[in-house]
Amino acid sequence: MNSSDPRTDAPHNPPRVIPRAEHTVSRSHISPNALRVLYRLRDGGFQAFLVGGCVRDLLVGLEPKDFDVATDALPEQVKRLFRNCRLVGRRFRLAHVFFGQEIIEVATFRAASAPSEGEEPAEEDFAEEEAGAEEEAGAEEEEAELIDQGGPRTEVHAAEFEAEHIDRVAPQPDADLERMFDATGRILRDNVYGSVDDDVWRRDFTANALYYNIADFSIWDYVGGAEDIAARRLRLIGDPETRYREDPVRMLRAVRFEAKLGFQIEPASAEPIERLRPLLGAVPPARLFDEMLKLFLTGHGARSLPVLRRRGLLAALLPSVDAYLAAHPDSLVERLLMKGLANTDARVIAGRSVTPTFLFALLLYGPIAAIIESMPTSRWHELSAILDACDQAVRDTQRHIAIPKRFSLGLREMFALQPRLEHPRGRRALRLLGHPRFRAGYDLLLLRAEFGLASPERAQWWTDVQAATEEEQGRMADALGGATERPAGQKSRRRRGGRRRRVPSGS
Ligand code: ATP
Ligand code: MG
Repeated sequence: MNSSDPRTDAPHNPPRVIPRAEHTVSRSHISPNALRVLYRLRDGGFQAFLVGGCVRDLLVGLEPKDFDVATDALPEQVKRLFRNCRLVGRRFRLAHVFFGQEIIEVATFRAASAPSEGEEPAEEDFAEEEAGAEEEAGAEEEEAELIDQGGPRTEVHAAEFEAEHIDRVAPQPDADLERMFDATGRILRDNVYGSVDDDVWRRDFTANALYYNIADFSIWDYVGGAEDIAARRLRLIGDPETRYREDPVRMLRAVRFEAKLGFQIEPASAEPIERLRPLLGAVPPARLFDEMLKLFLTGHGARSLPVLRRRGLLAALLPSVDAYLAAHPDSLVERLLMKGLANTDARVIAGRSVTPTFLFALLLYGPIAAIIESMPTSRWHELSAILDACDQAVRDTQRHIAIPKRFSLGLREMFALQPRLEHPRGRRALRLLGHPRFRAGYDLLLLRAEFGLASPERAQWWTDVQAATEEEQGRMADALGGATERPAGQKSRRRRGGRRRRVPSGS
């Protein structure tokens, strides 16, 4: 067993208390709902701190994604203080306090390090997932909304995989700690309440371990986090290798924070990543799907990709994408991918909806193209070749990342739409405007056209036809005339494949 005990390893020194006058976290930047929760806990006689990413983000001048509260109140005590509160998690109870769309997560101090919070949904969430599964091909907007809300359903999958994994590895319980590790040192169970002095040692990076105390607006720093934030440095708390083994997702979190914050991972925390990346293979694929969304759909996806590649983690997460990019340096496909990620970031920043369907279509574009091009040329123009390639690329990816079916089906539809968008036939083509994947398919066509992988004139036609009146649309469709009557194969995937082969990529 490789894991140390953070409680005994931890020097139980008092924190450095940074008074209000000496830091920049102002209540005017804290969500009023988070403040309400903090004040009510305080007035109930409890300790209450903001903790984690929100304190870090406020210190670097970013707007926090969410506000997490840590307290010495037990979950049941929290529930008694708030009407709008639900306890979630089976192995470790957390309180969610609801204010319309906003959820403030209130965690009781914990005594040991553990996999990421929020991984264990309440039983009700399982019920929701089952109900949701029936509306399979749901509208894009709905998916986007899910993501906007932090994608709680994907966490359901994480818990399912986690449970399965626990059975499979038959870990040894550590009776004293009430913790369980598997053979690689990964923590599987963790169930001990503690004090704030204990809570700090289970956190991942020093920058994520600052506590903003509502009692006097000071910040408590046990681990030098304030100094590391000022130096824009990511440093794991404790021995890096042990902490990565306990929870390999911390490697992905390191990369995510490097990309999001522009921080440097300090050498001792960076060194084990390349070596330990195979451990990501033991992480439940649904949890990796969640991490993918945090890496790529929270406004810094274009920065995440090069950092993942540089740290060798793309190979662990999306081996086919990593292999494609390595084999085709500076390809048009890579440029299409980077531009698509940048467009997605811009949408996130503008508060517009985004969907994993489009994200995976971008990421898998290269592998899908490579699979098609590996088929006999006689198949390149067949729709079945496109669909087979999508299925194979998705299957390869599913070995590591659990892509929910509604997204993989969406991806397939987006690719199947490409030849239909490239060769619209008369008025029938107008029906595509009402196709549930039209928007995503059209966005992909625009990107392809931008990089010479589809006809810019045809992409423009679809742009124009959307802005036209019904009458004009009819005339535009009629005017397609002879151009639409060419043999199907002549300009479809075969032509695309042919063009792509001219990409200076060695394919
Ligand atoms: P962001 O919300 O910007 O993605 P964050 O740091 O707030 O970043 P969360 O996943 O919201 O990340 O987690 C909140 C806090 O919980 C973290 O700041 C960290 O202290 C702790 N934490 C989360 N995941 C882990 C983990 N895998 N290992 C250790 N601590 C973790
Ligand atoms: Mg957070």
